[in-house]
Amino acid sequence: MNAHSSNEIGDLHWTLGLIQNLEVGLVVVDRAGCIKLWNGFMENHSGVPARDLTDKQLLKQFPELPASWLHRKLESVFLLRNAAYVSWEQRPYLFHFKSNRPITGIAQFMYQNITLIPLTSPTGEVDHVGILIYDVTDTATGQIALEKANKKLQTLSREDRLTGLYNRGYWEECLNHEFERFNRSELISTLVLFDIDHFKKVNDTYGHQAGDEVIREVSKALQQQARKTDIAGRYGGEEFGVILTGTKGESAMIFADRLRANIEALVVSYGEHQIKFTISLGVSEINYQIDSATEWLEQADQALYKSKQSGRNWTTLFGAE
Ligand code: GH3
Ligand code: MG
Ligand code: MG
Repeated sequence: MNAHSSNEIGDLHWTLGLIQNLEVGLVVVDRAGCIKLWNGFMENHSGVPARDLTDKQLLKQFPELPASWLHRKLESVFLLRNAAYVSWEQRPYLFHFKSNRPITGIAQFMYQNITLIPLTSPTGEVDHVGILIYDVTDTATGQIALEKANKKLQTLSREDRLTGLYNRGYWEECLNHEFERFNRSELISTLVLFDIDHFKKVNDTYGHQAGDEVIREVSKALQQQARKTDIAGRYGGEEFGVILTGTKGESAMIFADRLRANIEALVVSYGEHQIKFTISLGVSEINYQIDSATEWLEQADQALYKSKQSGRNWTTLFGAE
């Protein structure tokens, strides 16, 4: 043995030491899918020592692996001789390892980024593939928590606290959006605006808390009657708006008057009180004469005003008075 090859063996020795102690999983498989290397990281997390796996087929030893997916990935690396990269966002993990962050309780398993690299033999052939497994649980759980928080924040900023309906700001945004959609696609939508009749009397007679309960019950009735595509919001204190998308004025009138009748029949219990009340509604179908969402809203408001003038507990369609 000459000095040169003894150095090479020395190099190999410390290289293997490095690979064993790497904080990254490393698996090498050959063309037949047999395991040629299984480093310390893999031993620790899988609980299976390398000596039990060497020369055995990876997919047979770990039947829970996504076999056809992994087979395809490996084949393409062998064939194209290019590395492949799979992030935890595409596939949360390859090997199902327990998360070692039980304290946070967010991750049940280790999130992994995977890199597959073609390994060339001295003759230039790609006869092995190295699979690198990176533990990215911290990044993944951080990002998932952030996304959750953002979603919650978005809901909060859109929601009316008392009723859970959309608040005025967001509902008006939807109204604008619907108005613009009509100009693009000519989808007919109808707006229903309504206001609780003599609501001051409810507050004065039973108190503000009872008034709040009435508002909550009205929005419940509204939500029960609305379809998924209807956009319901609390426009003001005791004023509500619903955009009935893809609905003509005539059908909207049926919706509105049914809601009016439902509210008329509703009895809200508050303490020993049984509170009865009514609503007045204004309905406006979108059309080409309307220049803005504000104008659309004004038409519904005018129709609502007519309903109030007609003695309340009434539904008016704009333009049909
Ligand atoms: P009208 O039939 O003409 O609508 O009579 P009204 O008494 O309902 O009159 P108006 O709509 O002007 O009055 C609304 C009242 O609703 C005034 C306000 O004190 C009360 N109000 C507004 N927001 C709330 C709320 O969130 N909770 C309660 N309890 N009352 C509210
Ligand atoms: Mg009002
Ligand atoms: Mg009112």
